[in-house]
Amino acid sequence: MEKRLAINGGPRAIPEGTIQPWPPVDAADEEQVLASLRGHQHAFGPNCQAFQEEFAAWNGNRYAITTNSGTAALHMGLVACGCGTGDEVIVPAYSWSSSATCVMQHNCIPVFVDIDFATMNLDVDRLEEAITPRTKAIIVVHLHGLPVNMERVMAIARKHGLKVVEDACQAHGARWRGKKVGTWGDCAAFSCNQNKLLCSGEGGIFVTDDEEMLAKAQSLWSFGESRSPVESRDYHVYAMGWMYRNNDLTAAFGRAQLRKLDGYLEAIRASAAVLTENLQGVPHLILPVEPEGARHNWYNYTLRFDMESLGHVHDASAFRYKLVEAMQAEGVDTGVWQGYILPAMTVFQAKNGYGKGCPWDCPHAAPVDYSLERFPVAQRHCDTHTGMTVPLRPPNGPEVARLTAAAIRKVMENVEELQC
Ligand SMILES: *Cc1c(COP(=O)(O)O)cnc(C)c1O
Repeated sequence: MEKRLAINGGPRAIPEGTIQPWPPVDAADEEQVLASLRGHQHAFGPNCQAFQEEFAAWNGNRYAITTNSGTAALHMGLVACGCGTGDEVIVPAYSWSSSATCVMQHNCIPVFVDIDFATMNLDVDRLEEAITPRTKAIIVVHLHGLPVNMERVMAIARKHGLKVVEDACQAHGARWRGKKVGTWGDCAAFSCNQNKLLCSGEGGIFVTDDEEMLAKAQSLWSFGESRSPVESRDYHVYAMGWMYRNNDLTAAFGRAQLRKLDGYLEAIRASAAVLTENLQGVPHLILPVEPEGARHNWYNYTLRFDMESLGHVHDASAFRYKLVEAMQAEGVDTGVWQGYILPAMTVFQAKNGYGKGCPWDCPHAAPVDYSLERFPVAQRHCDTHTGMTVPLRPPNGPEVARLTAAAIRKVMENVEELQC
């Protein structure tokens, strides 16, 4: 391979058109969606009912509710846990925005905890110091598909009488000590957005084993009523409700994809192993880990650059973007997943939720501190990472993983070409 980097005019390491888009769609998906279209039950129809039952069975939960997003399922989780005005909810300082904004949707106050660098997940050692008399629940995020140590989280939660919502939006099929995520906490949220491992376009799933929590979530999900669309409704609104229901076409697509999910998970795991094997010894890279007890689903294979050995500690994020650009020029499908830590986002720094200081200035709330120096680990991760999703997923196979590793190696072994 010629050494000159593609970004400097050299040849691309991965030919254009090599990486195929996610998810694979075949005749089974087409048939299922077409049957829904022809069935004339387009709102909450039979595919929605079946999708709920099939997902609950697949994941090992008693109940599932299909929603129009993972964010809706998270909001339902908070309400199912009994969270309300002024209650504090603990969330990791680095995640997707709605892991934290769902808290404000119910007038609750997000309290951020820094992450652990190795796992990129909430630092369980820092969990207890964030608990106050107002804390009601913890949202644990299994970020990028790596499960959090749920035995420790549940032990801390039970000791302090707190509920736990698992944000499993990226973590379909991930396991902690052999038990699937979404079966550890009091309830959980999955996403079925385009980029997730179970794709239905947009969509989400709320799961729980608790009948009372199911009823609370179901009420929020459908206008604040007490009955689901398949029961005889009285159209009476008992509590504040949203309209978070899924529709039949989307559920039909989700059902067809669910039948292939176990196969996808196996293929992605195999590609991740090939990537890891072929990235051994590449300079300046920190490879992702799978700690003992965890089974990653490799939703996002995330690299960090060692900015100390690169000599770029003080301009880490800028130099990281340069490295990512050089990799993209080689044809690597990689990118910065989230360029801001959560507390740094304007909505939290300016506390501009519902306006006039609400919910933070509500008489039922206590002041919280969003000073950024409290989250140094999240910031370091944020400034030094790049992630990969599609290259590991079918229809792409191990050859794409090998090509990807070779292209990354090319950039990192010729990094002086970028140091001007
Ligand atoms: C995608 C995602 C969500 C939100 O899911 P949507 O279906 O897009 O609403 C929440 N949390 C995490 C960690 C996610 O990755």
